[in-house]
Amino acid sequence: MLGSMHRAHRLLLSGLLLVWVAAPLGAPVTHKITLEEPAPGLFVHQGQSVDTDSPARADMANIGFIVGRKCVAVIDTGGSVAVGTALRAQIRQHTALPVCFVINTHGHFDHALGNAAFAEDRPEYIGHAELATMLGGSEAFFHEHFADELRGVPEPAIVLPTRTVEGTLELDLGERVLRLRAQPVAHSMADLTVEDVTTATLWTGDLLFNGRLPVLDGSLRGWQAWMRTNASAEHPLVIPGHGPLIHDWPAPLRLQQVYLDELERTVRTAIAEGLFLEDLLAAASNTAPAGWQIVRPHARNLGRAWRELEWE
Ligand SMILES: [Zn+2]
Repeated sequence: MLGSMHRAHRLLLSGLLLVWVAAPLGAPVTHKITLEEPAPGLFVHQGQSVDTDSPARADMANIGFIVGRKCVAVIDTGGSVAVGTALRAQIRQHTALPVCFVINTHGHFDHALGNAAFAEDRPEYIGHAELATMLGGSEAFFHEHFADELRGVPEPAIVLPTRTVEGTLELDLGERVLRLRAQPVAHSMADLTVEDVTTATLWTGDLLFNGRLPVLDGSLRGWQAWMRTNASAEHPLVIPGHGPLIHDWPAPLRLQQVYLDELERTVRTAIAEGLFLEDLLAAASNTAPAGWQIVRPHARNLGRAWRELEWE
């Protein structure tokens, strides 16, 4: 009896040691996130509506995962290792299946700085063919401005894709196929959409902002073209990069079209009138676009659109 208890104790102890040894990379769960399951086996955490200078900025993007028969695909990892770790902990609440894919819809901090939290799972990290360039180009910026968000993992803290997508790529999670599409330059230079074929759910990444003012970091003309192409597609559920989940596609897309079309009109008019960008920005500082949250990026959007359109 004593001997078997001793053995049991030793087993328990070695089990604990195994956990300890197996988890040196795993940061402790210091952040908590809530999930919803809007379609079977498809889980989403809706990020908070906060600005990029908020202490909660790491948790402002929509992130989630899809469970197949064989394994799990993560779609975006949040803006910090803590948020990525919280997402990983949530996955473990729902399934024991391995995480085989970590997909980034693009390379902005709030979608990709949680990547390192999944290093232990040894997934394939998947992104647009330009994602490595996008993340690599921001690496010094991330280390300088997001040191807190990257704390707690060994190098490389910024995890680049191990597999890239040009055109389309299908991933099989076991009786569940994800169709990934690399998009031309639009919101950013490396936008990737993910369609869960089983439920016709579309994850847009930041190609769609729902409620929060769209941020232009790629090409205005490219983004407008993407919206025109995708407005007529049938999707009972769409997961935007920010804001509430969408059951009435393409209504929120229309609102984004109105904003970006107005942005184009404003900039083209100013250029035609011979104004300087500084004049336009000064005028815009008094007029925030109505109906949107977190409107601070509007001035930056004007500048981006200006640089794109002034040479046309
Ligand atoms: Zn973005």
